[in-house]
Amino acid sequence: MTSPTLDSQIRGRLAEAGVRYTNGRQQVVAALVAADGPRSAAELHEQIAGAVPLSSLYRSLAVMADADVLAPHHGTKGVTRYELAEWLAGHHHHLVCVDCGTVDDIELPSRLEATLHDLVDAVADSGDFAAAGHALEVVGRCKACA
Ligand SMILES: [Zn+2]
Ligand SMILES: [Zn+2]
Repeated sequence: MTSPTLDSQIRGRLAEAGVRYTNGRQQVVAALVAADGPRSAAELHEQIAGAVPLSSLYRSLAVMADADVLAPHHGTKGVTRYELAEWLAGHHHHLVCVDCGTVDDIELPSRLEATLHDLVDAVADSGDFAAAGHALEVVGRCKACA
């Protein structure tokens, strides 16, 4: 379930964007909170047992992404999956399976995250670029597909 804090943060941001936090949208958010990675409209539709029609699910995902409550993840096979935006979900990375397309969230221990930070700064430096953030995606095969 979504925590009251998370729920009011989302409600507030949607209100600013003039978007209603309908019962259907609350169900979508709850399903994404329970998921361990980004989910597509089809996957969510299955997860919430068709409680929200697929057409309004697509629209809800797009509207909530526009309001910066959700972040889209563009998969290897042209499938767009959504997750809570980083300001809500926290900083993390993705493991992407090239076979089934599953995307899993992974949060690094702070020591590894710091090492990654240094590496990103070095990469940015070599391109005369000032890094303001990073997104790391590891591509490979999940346990089920390996
Ligand atoms: Zn897989
Ligand atoms: Zn994620």
